[in-house]
Amino acid sequence: MTAVPTIRLNNGVEIPQLGFGTFQIKPEETKEAVLTALKAGFRHIDTAEMYGNEKQVGEAVRASGLDRGEVFVTSKLNNGFHAHDEALKAFDRSLEDLGFDHLDLFLIHWPLPDVGDFVETWKAMEEIYRSGRAKAVGVSNFHAHHLSRLLEETEIVPAVNQIEAHPYLTQDELRAFDAEHGIATEAWSPIAQGKVLGDPTITRIAERHGKTPAQVTLRWHIQRGDIVFPKSTKRSRMEENFDIFGFELTQDEINEISGLNRDERVGPDPDTFNWIP
Ligand code: NDP
Repeated sequence: MTAVPTIRLNNGVEIPQLGFGTFQIKPEETKEAVLTALKAGFRHIDTAEMYGNEKQVGEAVRASGLDRGEVFVTSKLNNGFHAHDEALKAFDRSLEDLGFDHLDLFLIHWPLPDVGDFVETWKAMEEIYRSGRAKAVGVSNFHAHHLSRLLEETEIVPAVNQIEAHPYLTQDELRAFDAEHGIATEAWSPIAQGKVLGDPTITRIAERHGKTPAQVTLRWHIQRGDIVFPKSTKRSRMEENFDIFGFELTQDEINEISGLNRDERVGPDPDTFNWIP
């Protein structure tokens, strides 16, 4: 079995650099999808209360026969629960739904700059971390100016910042800010939900290596040092997305792919996204 590299987070916790995403996988399809991903070799699963499939993620981990400690599981605090006490209760509910006694990583899903105050939410995350029931805590969709407030007003530096990143949104400034502060960057929608796969530059580099555009794009993320978790409900694509450790892109190829940046998002901008489900 391929050894997936790990990244050491700022509190010493090791996270597999490649994982499996579960956004938009229907609850009734999630157990099967996650089980298949675990069989393909993935040992890191990214879910969220918002995805409505935590219960089935937990079931799949138990049904896999793997020890809980062998699988790194991330979940996220949903947007309606940013108030301090609500956040603590939402974390308990996530654990209960997953059927776990701990999470490996728990994130604030969105900063929601115009709803409440994410600094208060982060203080609840600090309490959750100190309880030992989340091995690491972090944020998602935070811009540098959101992170700066946490760095100035709270004690624990987020272990990760999970942001949209792919060849059409390379996020170089925010990644540099994360790195400067010891925050690991996780890239969500790493293949831009399929939108980069027909790109002529990526296709040409893929042909040169005898790999698929998805593999080349994921490899680009890995060589840049980010953590990724592509989503698929298809076994063949899961296997394809896992098989990215037997080749290497040159620095020129990495630069060429980074040069495709258009600051183009597939998801919302965190500065204007204040949606509560
Ligand atoms: P991805 O960039 O992972 O793309 C998923 C899409 O690409 C699906 O339509 C899938 O289709 C298709 N696909 C997957 N692999 C291949 C392949 N090898 N070849 C061709 N098509 C492929 O998008 P996601 O938005 O799902 O992002 C990944 C994960 O990031 C999410 O699942 C979630 O865990 C996380 N995320 C976090 C967010 C946040 O706000 N924090 C927001 C969005 C995502 P099919 O299933 O049919 O194979």
